[in-house]
Amino acid sequence: MTPEVRSDLSKLTGYHSAQVDVDVRLNTNESPFALPAAFTERLGEQMHSLDLNRYPDRDATVLRSGIALLHDVDLGEVFAANGSNEVIQTLLLAFGGPGRTALVFEPTYALHSHISKITGTTVVSAERGGDFDLQADHVAEVAREFDPEVLFLCSPNNPTGGTDDPDVVRAALDSTTGLVVVDEAYGQFADTTALDLRSEPGGDRLVISRTFSKTWALAGVRLGYLVAAPGVVAGCQQVALPYHLSALTQAAGTCALEFVAEMENQVAELVRQRESLWSQMAQLDLELWPSRSNFILFRPTTKGGHDVWQDLVERSVLVRDCSSWDRLDDCLRVTIGTSAENTRFLEALKEIL
Ligand SMILES: *Cc1c(COP(=O)(O)O)cnc(C)c1O
Repeated sequence: MTPEVRSDLSKLTGYHSAQVDVDVRLNTNESPFALPAAFTERLGEQMHSLDLNRYPDRDATVLRSGIALLHDVDLGEVFAANGSNEVIQTLLLAFGGPGRTALVFEPTYALHSHISKITGTTVVSAERGGDFDLQADHVAEVAREFDPEVLFLCSPNNPTGGTDDPDVVRAALDSTTGLVVVDEAYGQFADTTALDLRSEPGGDRLVISRTFSKTWALAGVRLGYLVAAPGVVAGCQQVALPYHLSALTQAAGTCALEFVAEMENQVAELVRQRESLWSQMAQLDLELWPSRSNFILFRPTTKGGHDVWQDLVERSVLVRDCSSWDRLDDCLRVTIGTSAENTRFLEALKEIL
């Protein structure tokens, strides 16, 4: 008989997003754009000079220096890993774990609580407000009550799309003694960042996590990082597996950093597409929430959410079905795609409604 997994894991189901073979895939918030040809060429060139018979640079110094330069911080304030999910896992291995608590505000990115549980960290779930926004006094009250070792914020928040006011982050820092993690996977699509708050009181407990998966159009590479005080980075390095970041990943990330301007252009284009799609969706029978990200959360008001999802699939358009998630009854989330993809989505949606 196969041995059983840890009893505390038996109730956890794996994380997955339904993958269906369709023409228009707007379900996982990836970038719809191909990487610049010059990037692929540069990366190809670099491949030739990699000594793949050797272990990679364990500290990923070149890559981390590039990220440090991008954010105007020190090398010792950057930790990189295989996607920001691994960044979060590493943080929780070092600063969470049995007997420790992580606080999340639902609805939010499911992986924060999921990875917490996998690492044996106790999860406390609090609620977002009516419009899924967070108020500083509410955050302060809950944070004080539980004083978690790790408090998760997500700005812009997945799947609801809004950003957190700087006062929300300040309230979290003022009301806890643990780490405050702001997941900024979609940070470039918004015009606010918690990076600026690192110089304020408690800033040495503030962690900002980012990823190359969304804005950098590199979801397939698996690369994410955090910016935090050197003590936090050292804690992560203490638990990370030796050579966890492959030479290929390090090269891809380093290479990507040469294309900041192209990435920013793509982000600007997606923000334009988002505004245009949002205003067109606002004319349909939908409840929809303002987004500062690369997706829009919406709820059909005349038809069930899951039925609309199914009808979209039949028209070869895939969005994320959030209709069974807590507080998101009948809600769907659409990723901003290319202009042509967004039009296909919109036409299909109009037909269905
Ligand atoms: C997509 C996403 C990530 C990205 O995870 P990676 O492991 O870097 O691909 C992280 N946080 C949030 C909120 C996300 O939506």
